[in-house]
Amino acid sequence: MKTNKKIQTQDLIIIGGGIMGLMTAYYASDLVNNITILEKKTIGKENTEAASFSYTRSIRVDYLEPFYANLAYEAQQLWLDLEKNYKKTFFVKCGCLNIAKKTITPDFFSTYAQRSYKVISDLNYGPVSFSKQQLNLRFPQFDVDMGSLDTKGGFLLPQTISKTLLKVLQKKKITLVENIDIVSVEEKTDGIIITTNKDKLSTKKLVITAGKGTNELITKIKNNPPPFPIVYDRPQRKYYYPPEKLVKQFLPEYFPVFAYTDVGIYGHPVFDKKKGAVKIAYFVPVGIKKDEKKITCVEDFVAECLPLLKDVPSEEITDADNCWYDTVSDDDFILGSLPKFNNILIGTGWRGTGYKFAPLVGKILSQLALQNRTIYDIKQFSPARFTK
Ligand SMILES: Cc1cc2nc3c(=O)[nH]c(=O)nc-3n(C[C@H](O)[C@H](O)[C@H](O)COP(=O)(O)OP(=O)(O)OC[C@H]3O[C@@H](n4cnc5c(N)ncnc54)[C@H](O)[C@@H]3O)c2cc1C
Repeated sequence: MKTNKKIQTQDLIIIGGGIMGLMTAYYASDLVNNITILEKKTIGKENTEAASFSYTRSIRVDYLEPFYANLAYEAQQLWLDLEKNYKKTFFVKCGCLNIAKKTITPDFFSTYAQRSYKVISDLNYGPVSFSKQQLNLRFPQFDVDMGSLDTKGGFLLPQTISKTLLKVLQKKKITLVENIDIVSVEEKTDGIIITTNKDKLSTKKLVITAGKGTNELITKIKNNPPPFPIVYDRPQRKYYYPPEKLVKQFLPEYFPVFAYTDVGIYGHPVFDKKKGAVKIAYFVPVGIKKDEKKITCVEDFVAECLPLLKDVPSEEITDADNCWYDTVSDDDFILGSLPKFNNILIGTGWRGTGYKFAPLVGKILSQLALQNRTIYDIKQFSPARFTK
């Protein structure tokens, strides 16, 4: 197609300005100068399509697969470095408590709490196991029978993180283009041409971190591969507002991030004193039918396991998290080269757990795009695994 518009060649264009796109730009800016992020909506501000728009995100190492636990730990080190560099609190280190109750999941040995404890204990990440009596002393807010505390866990503060990152990226002269529609993408021998509703751009390398928009975006690429097998689901999310006399017990100093993963529950302590809300979410765990369980919503969980919150005011969350979990058919991340393309990289399918990994993902994508290699062994995330 002929155009009169001037083609601006970039070293790297990133499509999608969620946390993965911002982190990719951040690490890439150590390696090249001309970087542009193209975002369909807005970056860092309210964006109902962006999974990264939130007030809190859990950060933990307590995965069942040692590989993911190790990656999460590596990512934590990067978060800590970022905190140090920019003298900000990104990460509230209150621990993450995995819980179980006999009347709900009678077989303790098969619970997530028990199994993840074993995995991260073997990796020497120092979890602490609690009996019912010990829990009553340490975290009396819960009515459960056992718990294991991932002492490296806590929650991240996405609002502070995106504000800081945006400032840093602007200082580094990275171009951010919002409210743009991608019309087509074509890889040629000497680069990639991206046509948008506003402009025509060319770049040596392209990274796609478009979250839920990824499969649709891929259809705009000439000679595109088939879509990735990702299903999207939105958890139920609620705020609970403990009254003044109770609120202290739910501050991060006294109350951890918690998860009852077997029944699809996780929650965060009061993350902002002014707002004063405990956040609790429910999702249908993979492979389990909703009506097969005792806990089928946030309210069931609160009645069974957090009785102090049972009668306090509560509401559905509408000011954040209006986005979707992305589960890949084989439950692994999708990270690497887009099949059939030499200069297009992709990062998606974070199984509802990606935020904590973001600096590591950004580092890996920037290495793959600009150095054609990464020091991390990410074979199992290869996007090509679906085209074989
Ligand atoms: C309710 C909920 C709770 C979660 N809780 C946690 C948690 O506690 N801990 C954790 O680690 N993770 C959690 N996650 C997962 C985490 O938030 C995501 O994995 C992460 O934010 C994904 O970031 P991203 O940049 O890939 O995607 P997004 O943040 O979705 O960003 C993608 C961006 O691409 C843009 N885009 C889409 N299509 C196009 C296009 N065609 N052109 C240009 N731009 C486009 C979108 O507008 C968006 O801004 C949660 C997710 C959800 C939904």
